[in-house]
Amino acid sequence: MTKCPQCGKDVSFFERDLITGTCPACRGIGARPATLGCGTLLLIGLVVWLVVGSKVNRVRDEVTELRSEVAELKRAVEQETAELRALREAIEASAPPTTRRPE
Ligand SMILES: [Zn+2]
Repeated sequence: MTKCPQCGKDVSFFERDLITGTCPACRGIGARPATLGCGTLLLIGLVVWLVVGSKVNRVRDEVTELRSEVAELKRAVEQETAELRALREAIEASAPPTTRRPE
């Protein structure tokens, strides 16, 4: 038997509150200090929603930015590839037959 911290009455292990150790009577009248009011819960939910929402937005912005950067890079690589191909063709066309690499 343990004692209820609220009223000091003996309370059995099965009856006492798991968190606060209060008896059912004290629990019934709202002695549980860990209990959060509905408004507090709503406020916490709102804050969490705002924080998560802003983080999600930031990540989405970053992804959009990265995507456009990737597209830009792809375009640049394609341009470089085309330039390299043109250069190789120009070199092969101008090179004398003797300096061409054996095939
Ligand atoms: Zn009690």
